[in-house]
Amino acid sequence: MEKVDMQNLTPYTKIGLLARTISRENNLTLREKAEIIFDLKQLQKDAGIYPYDRICTFGSSHRGQVSEKSRDHDLLEDLNATKPHVIWNLNHYLSLNRHPEVIQFAKECVDKYGTGSGTSVFSGGMNLLHQKIERFFCKLWKKEECLLFPTGYSANLGTISALAGPEDLIIIDGECHASVHDGIRLTRAKREMFDHNNIENLETILTRSSGDYRNTFLIVESVYSMSGDETKIKEICALKKTHGFFLYVDEAHSFGFYGKNGAGFCAEKGCLEQVDLLMTTLSKATASLGGVVACSKELAAYIQFRSNAYMFQACISPADAGAILKSLELLTTDEGYRTQLWNNTFTFRERLVNAGFDLKDSISPVIPIYVEDEIKLSHLCQELFEQGVFTNAIIYPAVALNEGRLRLIVTADHTEEDINRTVEVLKASAKKLEIL
Ligand code: PMP
Repeated sequence: MEKVDMQNLTPYTKIGLLARTISRENNLTLREKAEIIFDLKQLQKDAGIYPYDRICTFGSSHRGQVSEKSRDHDLLEDLNATKPHVIWNLNHYLSLNRHPEVIQFAKECVDKYGTGSGTSVFSGGMNLLHQKIERFFCKLWKKEECLLFPTGYSANLGTISALAGPEDLIIIDGECHASVHDGIRLTRAKREMFDHNNIENLETILTRSSGDYRNTFLIVESVYSMSGDETKIKEICALKKTHGFFLYVDEAHSFGFYGKNGAGFCAEKGCLEQVDLLMTTLSKATASLGGVVACSKELAAYIQFRSNAYMFQACISPADAGAILKSLELLTTDEGYRTQLWNNTFTFRERLVNAGFDLKDSISPVIPIYVEDEIKLSHLCQELFEQGVFTNAIIYPAVALNEGRLRLIVTADHTEEDINRTVEVLKASAKKLEIL
């Protein structure tokens, strides 16, 4: 385990570290390990410092009732245990989750196609809606084929695990999502991580490993979910010419609001052709559930036959597919949603910087407020919650130890009032905790 100063860590992180340590402890049974972790979690709950299971009572929105107590508390019996909040932790960037046409079309799809899809693509679970989604991405991204997975997580996991093997090298950015790590684990390929967004470090790894592996894959996110930083895609594409790797880009946090017609970051930068595998989740800008990977027809065939996640998982439901299709139609034909999102992002960022917060290199609607001291960070998050501002503290294992941050995700529906109120509360709380 890395050497860390345990004093600066929240009880939550300590338990996370402990869970990882005892999972490798061979002298304890699973039952004993689970009991230790359960008891520690309970201690946190009893002390009122377990912030990770709050409920948005009536679902996703930029504002709403959020449970004050943990989900053990039966809200159905006691709706008074909720409070109105401005909500900054949902990924529905374009706010299409509450768009009347999206909701209406999802309903119509249920009427016409039923509820579940019944089975996986291979066994006949695919319907017209699924096919339309795949065709849509082929056309938008100018790729021969597109595969629709039930979630973004399984799109990454299922594709990466299908492509690589023990003789291959997979290089990833230090901030890549857990689904990428889990996919790699299944391949038994050699994994190398380059320092976040550090192209020099990436080049060193590529040069050092040249010729040692059967295939080399490079996996990056277009915009990183934990920091809001954009990847240096042009430099990466230039490296591809000399180093000849397969380039895989996850557009989870850019599809729908970067580039012409919302086609994404790679489209905006003119790099679509150099990207071998382009992926996005459909749970964020398109306000539903699912994940797509677009690539050549040969690679797609290979993934179809090698990916258990593709072969053995049921297709998304007709309601989910309907919401995706209507969202795609709206976001590609009306710039208004993107414009509103970016206007909100610029306003919020400007106010935060003026208030003295350091937002580092982030540019996107994912806004990180870095707080080195994890205890202060968790108090800041709690303080905000008490004042009706709901967001998450991002700490280990989502990011490296001692690189904690508060993360605020801007959406099109956030209002000037939401922004002003949040900046006000943030400023006062940060001053109180001597963060500002
Ligand atoms: N990739 C990235 C970069 C993500 O941030 C996420 C979700 N947070 C995923 C993949 C997984 O997507 P989903 O939650 O839609 O399964």
